[in-house]
Amino acid sequence: MIEQMIQLWEYQKKDMALDQFKAQLKDTPTRKRLIKLQRYLKNSQKKINALETEALQIQGKMQTLDRQYSLLEEELDELEKDIGYYSECEEDELAPEQIKEIIQQATALVSRSGRIKSDLQTMQMDIESSDQKVRDLLQKMLSAKKEYDVLKIEHQKELDGGKEEQQRLEEEANAVAKMIPPEILSEYKRIKGFRSNPVAVLEDSRCNGCNMQLPAGVAAQIAKGDRIVTCENCGRILIVTA
Ligand SMILES: [Zn+2]
Repeated sequence: MIEQMIQLWEYQKKDMALDQFKAQLKDTPTRKRLIKLQRYLKNSQKKINALETEALQIQGKMQTLDRQYSLLEEELDELEKDIGYYSECEEDELAPEQIKEIIQQATALVSRSGRIKSDLQTMQMDIESSDQKVRDLLQKMLSAKKEYDVLKIEHQKELDGGKEEQQRLEEEANAVAKMIPPEILSEYKRIKGFRSNPVAVLEDSRCNGCNMQLPAGVAAQIAKGDRIVTCENCGRILIVTA
């Protein structure tokens, strides 16, 4: 097993070289820009959704105000009819209080409808400005999307360009993996889930993965070679190199 553990150590070197190569392939300015664009597009879409929701709410309020405005106009029409009626009356038939009341009613109605009209105008302007914002955002999103599509193809070329080297590194790693028993390899892969380098060397009873001083007996356990020994602190498979 000690022999196989040395193979595992070799395998880890190949595996890490492969990881590093893959990370390099992904860590290009093109890919960074792609991620930035993706984030921008997502945020812009959120902004548009918020603007549209707000516009719908304003439209709802406008409908209510429109109805109020129509009712006020009807009231004013009624009042005008009354005024028409009174204007045909003889002067001595008109009570001053009635005239005063009609004038007060008309003034109140006109001022209420004026307020509603001005509110409606403000809301209309809000909606138009929100529409404009949406149009601007869509315009910018469109050019961002175009850039994204171009860069996506470019990045695919970058990845394709590295394919051969990646394949070579994979083959190298696989060749070493073949010499390791499956149960050891599967333990390696399990630890790989939480450690990028699952194998550590024990040096002077110290795990070089986490730097923890381990009990003196650990070296002897590894030397016995009858089972996988892991670091009690970091969980890495421990080996001893010559
Ligand atoms: Zn450790």
